[in-house]
Amino acid sequence: MEKSERFIEKEARDLVRRIAKERIAPTAGERDGNGAFPREAIEVLADGGLLGMVVSEKYGGADASRTALALLATELGRACASTALVTVSHIIAEKAIETAATDFVRGKWLPKMMAGRALGAFAVHESNSGSNAGAITTTARCDGDEYIVNGSKFFITSAGEADVYLVLVRTDPDKNPQGTSALLVEKETQGLSFGRAEDKMGLRSSSSREMFFNDCRVPVANLLGVEGRGLQVIGQNVIGWGFFGAAGISVGIACAAVDLAVKHAAERTIASDPIGVHQAVQSLIADMIIQSEAAETLLASCVSKADASPTSAMINGFKTKLFASESAVEITNKAIQIMGGHGYCRDYTVERLFRDARGLTLHFKTSEWLRQDIAKAALGL
Ligand SMILES: Cc1cc2nc3c(=O)[nH]c(=O)nc-3n(C[C@H](O)[C@H](O)[C@H](O)COP(=O)(O)OP(=O)(O)OC[C@H]3O[C@@H](n4cnc5c(N)ncnc54)[C@H](O)[C@@H]3O)c2cc1C
Repeated sequence: MEKSERFIEKEARDLVRRIAKERIAPTAGERDGNGAFPREAIEVLADGGLLGMVVSEKYGGADASRTALALLATELGRACASTALVTVSHIIAEKAIETAATDFVRGKWLPKMMAGRALGAFAVHESNSGSNAGAITTTARCDGDEYIVNGSKFFITSAGEADVYLVLVRTDPDKNPQGTSALLVEKETQGLSFGRAEDKMGLRSSSSREMFFNDCRVPVANLLGVEGRGLQVIGQNVIGWGFFGAAGISVGIACAAVDLAVKHAAERTIASDPIGVHQAVQSLIADMIIQSEAAETLLASCVSKADASPTSAMINGFKTKLFASESAVEITNKAIQIMGGHGYCRDYTVERLFRDARGLTLHFKTSEWLRQDIAKAALGL
């Protein structure tokens, strides 16, 4: 890697660490409580120039690597996983527009998205097809220079809040039953509506809603990439970039849990001794430290392989997302154990970290699908 690239990554990490600690973390608990969308936090990131970070220089971005995205997500994940998830979804939409949209669509959306004046999201999953993205049934029928979109999506992060959506649809199912395409659908499109915000266990301020498409007319110019190859657009952007963001969020959550548990074990005194003097507690702490470092190290290794060889981004994304998300659940669970009854109460942050971590093993590809994908790649299936 070029020295200048490392410099950008370090600069970006230091900047986002400061912003996250000073401007985003202090209100994370409040947003978790009232489910408020992290609009101000997104504005703060835009003001810091962080929303255009991974967009190519050619289109006004900083051309930062996947490694930089992983570091950004890690720092945000430490502070507020909901804000981190909304940011990663936005960046996924930006990357898809950068890599697959026409010049007109790029020019219309990227400057606004990088400046935080428009928010992006991605919408793949549907209630009937669930975790199987290849089985979606939302259709887009071509009618002159428009597609007519009908169907629905569910659990979409930032739905109702975002201005523009990367939507996976089935184009022309009669002629090409397998063909999926990626379309950019604007929030104001007639016939597009949103369900109520889901009352989730964690990631509570990330606004997950259903989306309903009722004869939505979308210009053919909003097709991303080639018709019939929508899953490639999803693979390149949601997985090839977004999974490093998702893994980073989990690593950030895990690091925050380790810090809080160690501090508590040193400060909480029972019968004149801090609980950290007990070997059983030390054992929990040691396991948490090693597992969080292992997750961070695997993320660094996988993302640097993906940066060096983008064709390996999907398999490396699967590996790091699986390990980081499951590690964060185990680590936050141990942190609650160390903090005893306190850790089980809403007043203590580890309880939120556990709930947030749990959602990341379900987000986009579940752990079961990831295990299968990793094994199938090894077996050549
Ligand atoms: C916090 C959060 C944010 C999300 N954000 C977005 C978003 O922005 N955009 C978006 O498109 N989607 C989003 N999703 C949706 C998410 O991708 C789906 O919830 C996920 O893919 C699982 O689908 P499902 O809930 O329908 O579970 P199901 O598909 O019903 O699966 C239930 C269980 O069965 C297992 N299973 C199902 N089929 C198989 C199989 N063939 N092999 C092995 N195991 C299987 C699953 O692994 C899981 O354990 C989000 C979800 C969450 C929780």
